Amino acid sequence: MPAAFTRTIARQESMLAPRLIALLLLSAACSAGAGEHDSAATASTSTMLKGDSAAAVATPVAAPSSTAMAPGGEKLAGRIPVLEYHVIGSEKNAAYSRTTASFLADLEEAYRRGYRPVTIAQVLDRDFRDVPAGMSPVVLVFDDASDSQFRYVERNGALEVDPTSAVGLLLAFSKSHAGWKNRATFCMLNGGAAGHNFFGDAPKFGGQKKEWRFQKVKWLADNGFELCAHTLWHARLDKYPDAVVQEQVARNVMGIDSAVAGYRVRTFALPYGIWPRNRPLAWAGSWTDPKTGTAHPYKFEAVLEVSGGPARSPYDAKFDPHSITRVEAIGDDIRKVLARLDSTGTRMVIGGK
Ligand SMILES: [Zn+2]
Repeated sequence: MPAAFTRTIARQESMLAPRLIALLLLSAACSAGAGEHDSAATASTSTMLKGDSAAAVATPVAAPSSTAMAPGGEKLAGRIPVLEYHVIGSEKNAAYSRTTASFLADLEEAYRRGYRPVTIAQVLDRDFRDVPAGMSPVVLVFDDASDSQFRYVERNGALEVDPTSAVGLLLAFSKSHAGWKNRATFCMLNGGAAGHNFFGDAPKFGGQKKEWRFQKVKWLADNGFELCAHTLWHARLDKYPDAVVQEQVARNVMGIDSAVAGYRVRTFALPYGIWPRNRPLAWAGSWTDPKTGTAHPYKFEAVLEVSGGPARSPYDAKFDPHSITRVEAIGDDIRKVLARLDSTGTRMVIGGK
């Protein structure tokens, strides 16, 4: 991750003495909007995921461990490209920003090759009803909640999705491309710097208003998209003690819960792809609010890495939901990865009857 990006989005972590961390987290949470401290996370630590200890082993990227060919020609154990986006609509392509033209070209390429979008939650559930027989699932993931991904514009007193933001582009794409549904996973910050805060929290970030934050998150959940956690302000989790790691994650989940009460956040994306020193805290933990004494546990089924190539299918015997690899939208990488999946015949294909 470039230093410039790090400075832009995260809050001055390197300057922190440990005793100041709690204070900083508190101020960050306060800036994230009133009400987020009050709602309880709904997960329970009493129901830990099975296989937690095994998930600590890194998943190598290799060919699927089995082919699971069926009479219909399906390849259920093939790879699923999980495409990772940050800023959309930049003037030039860079490591963490993509032009509108390149983003749309990615979608066209996936569509042309017979991919249809699903969310990470659908992958976990093996719910591929949105993918017709003979076609393949693709997952679009948007990290960091910048306004470039979801902007509103006010028109005649009503709010409309800005057609130039990623959500606007996705809505138009699904209208013009039969069979492509509104499916994507948004891994959001609720207290990041520079407007990386539930899609912009001030007019200087694409004309966005703070009071639209929860409305956007709710809109996503109501329209087929998945809400995913990404920490409060994009902390490098390896730099902090366990208590701070859990506070970063729990307060992020609490923020999402404030926007959509009771929403079950199942997916977590590691900031910078960096694991906490105590790795299982990436998928389960608890933070107790010192002001109220209330415990806020969290538990995720899926943890997203930053890179690693196309992900394993949930039908692959080596599928590890706590380490789902992704393909970063850098340069021509997505087109190359999709081409390679076809030339090697390794992509997941949904079978017919
Ligand atoms: Zn991020």
